Amino acid sequence: MADASPGVRRVAVLGSTGSIGRNTLEVIASHPDRLQLVGIAGRSRVEVLAQQWQACRPPLVAVWEDARAQEFSRLTGLQEVLVGLEGLITLATHPNVDVVVVASSGCHALVPLVRAIQAGKRIALASKELLVMAGELIARLVQEHGCALIPIDSEHAGLFQCLQGVERSQIERLWITGSGGPLWGKAGGALQAATRAEVLAHPKWRMGPKITVDSATLMNKGLEVIEAHWLFGMPLDRLHVVIHPEAAVHALVQLVDGSLLAQLSPCDMRLPIQYALSFPERWGNSLPRLDVSRLSALHFAQPDPALFPCLRLALQAAATGGTACAALNGANEVAVQAFLEDHISLAEIPRIIAQTLEQHQAAAHPTLDEVLAVDAWARQAASEQIPQCSPR
Ligand code: MG
Repeated sequence: MADASPGVRRVAVLGSTGSIGRNTLEVIASHPDRLQLVGIAGRSRVEVLAQQWQACRPPLVAVWEDARAQEFSRLTGLQEVLVGLEGLITLATHPNVDVVVVASSGCHALVPLVRAIQAGKRIALASKELLVMAGELIARLVQEHGCALIPIDSEHAGLFQCLQGVERSQIERLWITGSGGPLWGKAGGALQAATRAEVLAHPKWRMGPKITVDSATLMNKGLEVIEAHWLFGMPLDRLHVVIHPEAAVHALVQLVDGSLLAQLSPCDMRLPIQYALSFPERWGNSLPRLDVSRLSALHFAQPDPALFPCLRLALQAAATGGTACAALNGANEVAVQAFLEDHISLAEIPRIIAQTLEQHQAAAHPTLDEVLAVDAWARQAASEQIPQCSPR
């Protein structure tokens, strides 16, 4: 593989076929003098991965399963494909990679993320679930290895931007905004009975199905509080969620003198992705602009914890700490998948998570193996509850 030209950042994308991955490839393509795609990795959408390889010809490709890797080789004629966990690790730690974009769903990228941090790579992190599962461990490794961990999640990208040049001692609290998702404003009954189609019709963001369901239950905001806790080292009682249906303001930083710094931009993930790749620089682009003269009103509201039990459960798990958040995350992923497959109603998601958390004895300061063991246990414990749920 040729060395990069001076000043060019070489990027590997774990989860290149998902929503964030595809947007990342667009961002890279729009800055050919600054960014070079050197690796892609995917799990199930092999046809999309093959198209990406044919369009961009990155020298490194990783596929999660052996059978899919063979399918990829058949589609592209490329025989040198990295496979499985070892393949992902090879990609994430490769000497010709400067930045690893972590955007794969599920927990498959946790070990490769840890290894990339240990290899001193810049990490652009979209997969918040990994910080939820293993935030304490990841935060410690980032400190130890002095690598940059830059969030792609839009609210955290907003906070990260607002916090540049701000001392920790100057921060009073951080606000994470949420549009409220597709069900905001509906009464309790309608929330319980929401169909998959209603839940997937997000008013502001076009995202993958898992995060769209999390947006409807507000689990997404709960996960984001945990994510912010580890990214910014802020105590939980200084992290706040506020619903903001216009989704123009993504984050607010309240300083000790009462000033509020805000980050506003259109709902377009290409901006946080670009900033994670360009930081500390800012690069011009042709992305849509937010026309503030057309913003007639900005509304903010407190979410009712009684209507959104997933948010309450996430905050409880965060307060418990240790392995509780890994249990929460594993149970949520299983329950959300069951909802997407029409096996359970939306209202069953928090019930399954609550029951899993009740069975879990949280352990403090878990190792990577302990986190992975709790994740596997929680998925099993949640799966066992699904047949007892009322089918949709
Ligand atoms: Mg977000």
